[in-house]
Amino acid sequence: MKLEANYLDEASNQGFDYIPIPVYVFETSKGYVMYDTGCDKDSVMPIYPPNDFDPTDGEYMPYHLEKAGIKAEDIKYLVISHLHVDHCGKAAYYPKATCIINNQEFSQQLHQYMTDTCTNPPKRDLEAFFSSGMKFQTLADDVKELELVPGLTILNLGAGHAYGMIGLYVELEEGNFVIASDCIYCAAHGYPDYQMPGIGVSVEGYKETVRYLEKYAKDHNAKILFGHDAEQFPTLKQAPGAYYA
Ligand SMILES: [Zn+2]
Repeated sequence: MKLEANYLDEASNQGFDYIPIPVYVFETSKGYVMYDTGCDKDSVMPIYPPNDFDPTDGEYMPYHLEKAGIKAEDIKYLVISHLHVDHCGKAAYYPKATCIINNQEFSQQLHQYMTDTCTNPPKRDLEAFFSSGMKFQTLADDVKELELVPGLTILNLGAGHAYGMIGLYVELEEGNFVIASDCIYCAAHGYPDYQMPGIGVSVEGYKETVRYLEKYAKDHNAKILFGHDAEQFPTLKQAPGAYYA
């Protein structure tokens, strides 16, 4: 997706960058776990104009899942990093999933939905999300870590970029990863500059989260996967041709 650069970086106010919007899928002993859902073209266009994000209906996540031999209805758990338009679109594809989400993120966005004060995501995304048929499991801020299955640990990070952010710690034979999502947009947003993203709820929360994830990654010998890093993304193994074991 082509995006005005100042959405990524508050210090930048001109130009356009192409950004990746990653979705992660894990095959586990409890079934398929998906982290984030990508976005809905009709939702993202009014929020981030102008951009050239243009999947046809046939190229949304079920299309990509099927290429990897997975059906959308087989997604057992859906972990949502936060409810922004580029992370929670087209939720209706996953009616049988249990959605795991930060309690504050869930309740603040539910409030905005019910009071018609939606900003990001737009109401149509929240409508799809809340009426999808998914079960919801919300995590209070005091639950810092939750092992979903061996090798997959939810990091419940609290307010920062959004009202409540969730990352993932992934242990694989090939190595360990910390999926930071928009807690750290790009390598440039982390140490030592701690550049603020264009969107944020809490400056202190944001910085604290960045420091927490960097320490966590160091302590666990893990590689950080950034939220929208156009330089890192092409270096990663990507479905359907490749995966991490
Ligand atoms: Zn994002």
